[in-house]
Amino acid sequence: MTYNINEKGYYGEFGGAYIPEMLYPNVEELRQNYLKIMAEPSFKEEFDQLLKDYVGRPSPLYFAKRLSEKYNTKIYLKREDLNHTGAHKVNNTIGQILMAQRLNKTRIIAETGAGQHGVATATVCALMGLECIVYMGEIDIARQAPNVARMKMLGAEVRPALSGSRTLKDATNEAIRDWINNPVDTHYIIGSVVGPHPYPDMVARFQAIVSEEIQWQLKDKEGTTKPDYVVACVGGGSNAAGAFYHYLDDTDVKLIAVEAAGKGIHSGESAATSVLGREGIIHGSKTLLMQTNDGQITEPYSISAGLDYPGVGPMHAHLYKTGRAEFMSITDDEAMVAGLELSQLEGIIPAIESSHALAIFNQKQFKPDDIVVINLSGRGDKDLQNYIDYFKL
Ligand SMILES: *Cc1c(COP(=O)(O)O)cnc(C)c1O
Repeated sequence: MTYNINEKGYYGEFGGAYIPEMLYPNVEELRQNYLKIMAEPSFKEEFDQLLKDYVGRPSPLYFAKRLSEKYNTKIYLKREDLNHTGAHKVNNTIGQILMAQRLNKTRIIAETGAGQHGVATATVCALMGLECIVYMGEIDIARQAPNVARMKMLGAEVRPALSGSRTLKDATNEAIRDWINNPVDTHYIIGSVVGPHPYPDMVARFQAIVSEEIQWQLKDKEGTTKPDYVVACVGGGSNAAGAFYHYLDDTDVKLIAVEAAGKGIHSGESAATSVLGREGIIHGSKTLLMQTNDGQITEPYSISAGLDYPGVGPMHAHLYKTGRAEFMSITDDEAMVAGLELSQLEGIIPAIESSHALAIFNQKQFKPDDIVVINLSGRGDKDLQNYIDYFKL
């Protein structure tokens, strides 16, 4: 039994490529080539070099002494917050821009909700001198002005999605429409382990650098490659997929996926997909998603823009269904308190997404000699105003 993907593009019963016929050639071109390209020595070399010199990898594995003392267990933080652009997302966009070049694509499109993936995409397009168009809901453009400014500064064009709820799912629809109309020269950079096969697997492989590093870093510090627990927050699931990847089939290592409960799981304002979701198809993949009885996607809610997604990637749906990973839900309030706590115990201001993973210590007790690795997916600079308003600092 493996918890990784099979040859058909499924994690158990989840995954696949449920796409309109007109998108088939684009997705099929990628599917036929991605593993071959990723295995080329020149690809690996360029990917590793950029991760090192441009992103600043390896990111440190930091023993959080004061946090560990407080919760009476051994807590390590994987510092993805120290990456260039401030989060794990750049690991994936670097990989995909190199993929696009190998496929002779000259034009890049992406969709973004909060703007974090848009910024990471605009960054690598500037790096490679490729045209970049980012679709973003009109409402999100208004809500996320600093990230819109960053994308423009980096030379990207931000195109508003004016239909529907004018948020992420509408931006995704626009991006798909664009890709159908521009199949030859355009690559669509998806920002998480979601979308039709091969995207979830490709993105997981690019993010797998996170657990690859944890293995040797922990070996240096603790004499073992295996922590007792790996913990990560889950929006679409890419930072968790990266942190879990090399431990998926090693059941000695327990996996904890942390979702956003928003104002409470059953408050009607939540993004706790594993609890509230049912099987369905979103963005070309069969997975768990929040939906009404007649199958319309429910609008999710979380204080953290990166976790505000109505589904999870198919890998995580499978990890949930099989019980391989434990899923926990953290409210806005619990996350905010954990974010302030990390700031004042360790001098590290986390992204609110990452604060959800940090908040589990108030719900779950660990043993004093347990090694718990938390993936600190991003830094809190983008969330400062949110923290300040919340705590009236
Ligand atoms: C986007 C984002 C997330 C959520 O996305 P995943 O694909 O679930 O990782 C989490 N943390 C940060 C800092 C983000 O920017």
